[in-house]
Formats: sequence, C-alpha cells, structure tokens
Amino acid sequence: MSDEQPMTARKGAVTMEKLVNLCKRRGIVFPTSDIYGGLGATYDYGPLGIELKRNVKEAWWREMVQFRTDVLGLDSAIFQHPRTWEASGHLQNFTDPLVDCKSCKQRFRADKIEGDRCPECGGELTAARQFNLMFKTFMGPVEDTANTVYLRPETAQGIFANFQNVVDTQRVKLPFGVAQIGKSFRNEITTENFIFRTREFEQMEMEFFIRPDPAEEEKWYRYWVDFRFNWHVKYGLKPDHLRRREHGTEELSHYSSGTTDIEFLYPFGWGELEGIAKRGSFDLDQHAKASGKDLTYFDEEAKARYRPWVIEPALGVDRAMLAFMLDAYDEDVVENEERIVMRFEPRLAPVKVAVYPLLRKGGQPEKAHAVRAMLARHFTTAYDQAGSIGRRYRRQDEVGTPFGVTIDHQTMEDDTVTLRDRDTTTQERYPIGALVDVLNKKIGWGAD
Ligand code: ATP
Repeated sequence: MSDEQPMTARKGAVTMEKLVNLCKRRGIVFPTSDIYGGLGATYDYGPLGIELKRNVKEAWWREMVQFRTDVLGLDSAIFQHPRTWEASGHLQNFTDPLVDCKSCKQRFRADKIEGDRCPECGGELTAARQFNLMFKTFMGPVEDTANTVYLRPETAQGIFANFQNVVDTQRVKLPFGVAQIGKSFRNEITTENFIFRTREFEQMEMEFFIRPDPAEEEKWYRYWVDFRFNWHVKYGLKPDHLRRREHGTEELSHYSSGTTDIEFLYPFGWGELEGIAKRGSFDLDQHAKASGKDLTYFDEEAKARYRPWVIEPALGVDRAMLAFMLDAYDEDVVENEERIVMRFEPRLAPVKVAVYPLLRKGGQPEKAHAVRAMLARHFTTAYDQAGSIGRRYRRQDEVGTPFGVTIDHQTMEDDTVTLRDRDTTTQERYPIGALVDVLNKKIGWGAD
C-alpha cells in the first residue's frame, strides 16, 4: 500500500556534492581519519554537526519518550552476551549476499545490482555467498573463539534482554514502549552516499509491547507508521519527499511479519529512511528459549500470562541528519547577492542565535559579548564581528542559524537590539530583557 508518488527526481538546488562540500567547509561532517586519507565509510561530526545530531536525537527522545506516558528509556551496552546474537538469529541470518567481480575484483551486494555482470566493468561475477555483517572482537586478553564478542548491529536486542528488568521494576501496563538511542555497527559490503550507509552509525529504536492480538497489532502498526511519518514532516522534511512502502513477503526480515519503510527522495533516488516492523513475540520467545527465563507479562485484567507482541520503529540518526540537511538546503538571492541558506526547523538548527556588534567600537563589542553570554545560558550561540554585517548574516544563513541579534548605536542608548529572521530577513526591535522569552517562543521545544 504505497502512497501515490509519481516523482522520481528532486527539484531544487541541492546535490550530494554541494551538501558534502558545505558539510566539510563549515565543520558539520568530516571524513574519519582525514589526515590518514580516511577510513572506509566512517565519518566524524564537527562542531556544528554535533549540535545538529544532538538536536535530532533530542527531537526524537522528546516525542517518543518524554512527551508520552507509555514509553520509557533505556541505555544498554554495545557488547551483549554472544548468545544474544544466536538467539536473535543474527549469527545465522544477518547476512548480505556478496559477489566479486572476477575482472576488476570489486565487491557488490548481489541484491543491490541489476543483471549478472559487474556494474563497474561488465566482468563476470562469482556466485553469491552469504556474508555476516557483524563486527567481531575479543573480550579479555585471550583471542580465541570462546572469547568472541560482537559489536551490536542494532540496539533492539538490548531492549529485549532487559524486558523482564523493566517489567519487574517499573509498574508498566501494556501497551508500553522501551526506547533507546545508541551506536550500532555493521560491516556493510558496500558503503555509499556519504552518511546514508556507514559501518558505524547511531540508531533510535523503540520496542512497543502490545497484547498478542492481530487487531491490536494492526492498530498500533498503523499508528506508529503515521506517527513516525508525521514526525519527519514536523521537523522539516517535505511531504512530497516522503512515502510509505510496505515490504513484500520475500523481502521481510527473519523476525518480521510486516514492515513498512518510510522512504525519502534523496538526490540519488528513493531510499529507506526509517523502518517500522511487526516483530511479534519472536525476540522474547527466542530469548526465553535460549536463556531459560520466562520473559512473560501478567495481564491483570485478562488474568493471563503471555509474551507480548512488538511493533518497532527504527531510525538511523545519521540517515535522518542527511535527510534533514537535504531538505533544509536552499539557495536564493538577498539584496542582489546569492546565498546558501539552510532552512532548518529552528529546533534542529545547530546554532539558534548569532550575536553581532554593528561596529567594532563605541562599546558595541563588549555589549555584544555580554548579550551573547546571557543568551548562551538558554541557546546555542555564535558571535561574529568580522566583515560587513551582510556577510556575517550570510555566514550564519549558510549553517541555518534562524536568528541574529545586532547591537547598534541605539542599543547603547536604550538597551534594545534588532532581531533578524533567517528566512524572511526582516528585523524587529526588542529590549534585551525580552530576548530570552521571545526566542523561546519562536524556537522552544514547547513552541507548537
Ligand atoms: P538496508 O536494507 O538499507 O541495509 P536495513 O533495512 O537493514 O537497511 P534496518 O535494520 O531496518 O535497516 O535499520 C533501521 C534503520 O537504521 C534504517 O532505516 C536506517 O535509518 C538505519 N541504518 C541501518 N543501516 C545503516 C547504515 N549502515 N548506516 C546508516 N544508517 C543505517
């Protein structure tokens, strides 16, 4: 049941190349180990990137945990007991089909190429073999198979392994969810498209436990698909660039009886942004079997004991950042000058407010520093006194700073400042004492 969606290419100025350049130039994303020539598809987030990342996670956590009464948080370890991955099926099933080109030696995921020849050189390909995506290492000083541990390929299993702990300590009642944000690792065969697919990334996942009942399952599945879709729109993605795509039976993961991808229109075409899966009681059943623990829930009303079913929305932090940056990117002309402007939803903007003295004299810089220090207790801020005021505005537009406060000669007389809006470029005058309230109303988490 995919949405009607005729569009296959994006309109507008952004390309991957423009975005990658902006990210590097402005300290949003750097290639990992840049000084050594990089390390296959791993990326570091610079001073502005980390702020964007924190905001994306905050937007998810607030809407998925804090604003709700039916979801709790958790933070489990990256290492889990190796039997976790046996029970979850990852050791057996978390594989991609790998093919090699006999001529140019490049490797590909067999399910991502069309035809049976090498997409690079047209050479002959080897037969596909299954390649497990989990990274291995050793726990303790002895490097042998008995000490092998895995870097988690998803955060979900840490939630299932703690199901009993949460039920026993938190007075929860079905339906309820447990949410977690954290690093995951996958030894991807092919990495591509900047931070879209990397080997180390962060996930935001929530396991929503429900009564084992098909109608209940369908209701919550639809609920979470819609809720997640709307979240993306609320924080700045264009509805035209989003669609729901339901997996066919042959495509479903080993644990799922139904999955919908929320897909986004990247410059390289439609691709997965987030997945919402029906996991049934697969994971709890498997862990109960493997651990000998009960992992059931007692339903007071029904006077019945059972293992709940699960609906899971799972989103990559890095992939969400890519989508938010792509849809924020814009180019326009202000006062006859071209500018790049990142139209981030203000809550996601890395810097919320920049402070500028109009002149570098008359006490204006000192006043501007004081105003910045006051604002910094509430918002991420920047200070800039270099070059013409227009150039300074454009430097902030380029990283999506939604507001600018300018200290001018009138400020020195009456303690008022101008507040400039990134999108309209209009300015309004406010007393310094009103700024925190005004800005909180415009960008605060409670703004809507
Ligand atoms: P694909 O089919 O593209 O390999 P998947 O279906 O295996 O992805 P899930 O296991 O559903 O992905 O992971 C949930 C979410 O985690 C994805 O929707 C995506 O946002 C993110 N994600 C998964 N793998 C990666 C990766 N290698 N790099 C960045 N984000 C990822």
